[in-house]
Amino acid sequence: MISFENVSKKYKDGTYAVNEFNLHINEGELLVLIGPSGSGKTTTLKMINRLIPLTEGTIKISDIKISDYDIHELRWDIGYVLQQIALFPHMTIEENIAVVPELKKWESQKINHRIDELLHMVGLDPKTYRKRKPHELSGGQQQRIGVARALAANPPIILMDEPFSALDPISREKLQDDLIVLQKDIKKTIVFVTHDMKEALKLGDRICLMKEGRIVQTGTPDEFLYQPANDFVREFVGIDQGREKRVSVREGMIPLKAAEKLTNMPVIATDASMSEIAGLLSEHDELAVKEMGEIVGTLNRQGFIRILSSQMEGKLNE
Ligand code: ADP
Ligand code: MG
Repeated sequence: MISFENVSKKYKDGTYAVNEFNLHINEGELLVLIGPSGSGKTTTLKMINRLIPLTEGTIKISDIKISDYDIHELRWDIGYVLQQIALFPHMTIEENIAVVPELKKWESQKINHRIDELLHMVGLDPKTYRKRKPHELSGGQQQRIGVARALAANPPIILMDEPFSALDPISREKLQDDLIVLQKDIKKTIVFVTHDMKEALKLGDRICLMKEGRIVQTGTPDEFLYQPANDFVREFVGIDQGREKRVSVREGMIPLKAAEKLTNMPVIATDASMSEIAGLLSEHDELAVKEMGEIVGTLNRQGFIRILSSQMEGKLNE
């Protein structure tokens, strides 16, 4: 869907913000770009919709060079969500959402219908929110409108630049959870920038870790956890310490339905250690979880990532 071929961005002062960047992002994939501050994430994102011109290489969308697209069509067909949402303060929520559909000259009835649909999608009641102004909403609600607006004209691609990082931890997690559910439904190609590994592991189909404008590793969350490319990745993922620590498996477990029978799955305890779980999950898709002699649920890789995330969260809050 989006491909980068040897893309570089060199500023006049000689800084390479992005350096020989090669990546193919698949249709319907949520790709997380992560890295320390200044590593080139925002520059990479903005080159996709030509907010920043690239200096070397080629970016293609659906096999067509971005330079061959009409700039307006390109921007309208790519939703964009920022950290400090640029909602228009003097416009109501419905007017904010309608911006791109209006530009695309949709019929007003269709726009009207779409606004309701989008507000439902992002969990806000249209009756309550349509006529409000942005300042009458909480930060989390404003970010939801930002997402709704980016989705408004149903673009195939969404770019999100640290969209949740200005929110309090509880709102942030709620928006992450809701994005996962929403993405199952809409299956957009999403490029999501963050500097938070926990968020990356939770949301990404794949993660691309950048450092000083270059890619250090691209891979699935599993690959980051089980096959980190080098010490920088290991440190960035930050889970090498505490591998023998016992974790509460229940946090990531799918409870067993009464009639369900499990066959051929390795069994772990509800307080297994990270290394035991990691070892088994590198060879099996699913594990059975046993407590007091009874199988109480199953754990898969997604579940393990949830456990790791809550471990990291715990560590951050200590
Ligand atoms: P990130 O989003 O990962 O924090 P950016 O993509 O914003 O990183 O920036 C990457 C690098 O490019 C940084 O070193 C930054 O200082 C540099 N940079 C950004 N904009 C300019 C500019 N207009 N002129 C020179 N250097 C810039
Ligand atoms: Mg940035």
